[in-house]
Amino acid sequence: MEFRLTTEQELFKKMVREFVDKRVFPRAREIDSSDANLPEDILKEMADLGIFGVTIPEKYGGAAMPGEEMVYAMLAVHELARGDISMSLPVYTLLCLGWSYLVARLGTEQLKEELLPKVAAGQAFLGICTTEPSGGSDLARITTTAVKKGDRYILNGEKVYISGCKEAAKRGGGHLTLFRTDPAAGIRGMAFAYVPVNTPGLTWKMYEDMGRGGLSTSGIIYKGVEIPSYYVLGQENRGFHAAMEGFNVARTLVSAACTGGAEKSLEMGAEYIKQRNLFGQPLAKFQGISFEIAEDRAKLYMLMNTLLKGAWMIDQFYRDGSFSRKEINEIVAICKLTAPSLALDIVKHAMTYYGAFSFTKDCPLEMCLRGLMSYVVGAEGGANIMKIIIGREFIGDISVAYR
Ligand SMILES: Cc1cc2nc3c(=O)[nH]c(=O)nc-3n(C[C@H](O)[C@H](O)[C@H](O)COP(=O)(O)OP(=O)(O)OC[C@H]3O[C@@H](n4cnc5c(N)ncnc54)[C@H](O)[C@@H]3O)c2cc1C
Repeated sequence: MEFRLTTEQELFKKMVREFVDKRVFPRAREIDSSDANLPEDILKEMADLGIFGVTIPEKYGGAAMPGEEMVYAMLAVHELARGDISMSLPVYTLLCLGWSYLVARLGTEQLKEELLPKVAAGQAFLGICTTEPSGGSDLARITTTAVKKGDRYILNGEKVYISGCKEAAKRGGGHLTLFRTDPAAGIRGMAFAYVPVNTPGLTWKMYEDMGRGGLSTSGIIYKGVEIPSYYVLGQENRGFHAAMEGFNVARTLVSAACTGGAEKSLEMGAEYIKQRNLFGQPLAKFQGISFEIAEDRAKLYMLMNTLLKGAWMIDQFYRDGSFSRKEINEIVAICKLTAPSLALDIVKHAMTYYGAFSFTKDCPLEMCLRGLMSYVVGAEGGANIMKIIIGREFIGDISVAYR
């Protein structure tokens, strides 16, 4: 057993860390206050460093290391979240990386050639669009439909809380979207397809979010939106399963965003208590504080190792099928169950060490708290949904979901 990053992976991590420390962390506040306008210069530098290409094959303009895509993507997202602790830039990136990975696996040749080079070059956004007003947890009951006419699909319906509409409208790109093609067939009558945001008939309206201010969240209405049939991923009636496959990738990367923000916050907390003197000594000398940091460090360390294993397992799953889908489902759900709440606890603890200063916008930690809340309340699947998955895989089919 070789339990360490390869030399190339270490070098990649170091390169992203240096970029993030120098170029991203000092601008986190600007990004969070930008009303969903990620800085073009940062996106371009990320593309030049090859960050947007780590899950995209070379043939389509990427720089993927075959069989190591998820480990590279996880490293990139973790490092970015150490810099933009508001979570805007890491989430923008993880959506592009995760959903491109699925397009590279299940997309038609024509779609791959059309879309992936633009995403790899940082010139287009790619996200996910499943949630509807009836509830994001119960995707078996979505009502957005599409009718096939010749070689085109015509979509009608509504989606809510979708990340990245403004970015896709501005830069190009869109979302992998789940819709019904055969309403009588339940989850076996759904398709999953790329829908560009700038398609006639598609309108979107931004919400005013409490955090993650550099990245938009919007509601979408489809009225007679036409897409070509080559935009569909995999088999038409297997769309639900394709989306679930993609969620395993996305949830791993979401967990990496949480560990990145948590690690940076923990380090900031540890640094601060060494310098803050109260009662004649540094706060770090009080075990009421240093023990809490030690506990957080232990929990985060365990999560980061589990997450690295999960990313590696997904790579093995696609490389040679050496893990089962059930094993992947379980480890991913374990990470996504643990990461948002642990990261939130760590940020709250760090803010407590900073005292009143952390309640001001001069302290960056409050951005992290607000950004992480998106994952605590449910983005990419709520905690109870992760428990349903772990229970289903470990105990057996006790699940109420997806009948
Ligand atoms: C900032 C942000 C960005 C987002 N971006 C996207 C995006 O890009 N694309 C997209 O498609 N969606 C996106 N979402 C939506 C997200 O996927 C949903 O919030 C999530 O799926 C939960 O759906 P819901 O919010 O409708 O909650 P609901 O489905 O209504 O669930 C409400 C609560 O009940 C719990 N619950 C549900 N079922 C059960 C059960 N059987 N047992 C116990 N508890 C249960 C849930 O865990 C949740 O806590 C985003 C959300 C946020 C906050």
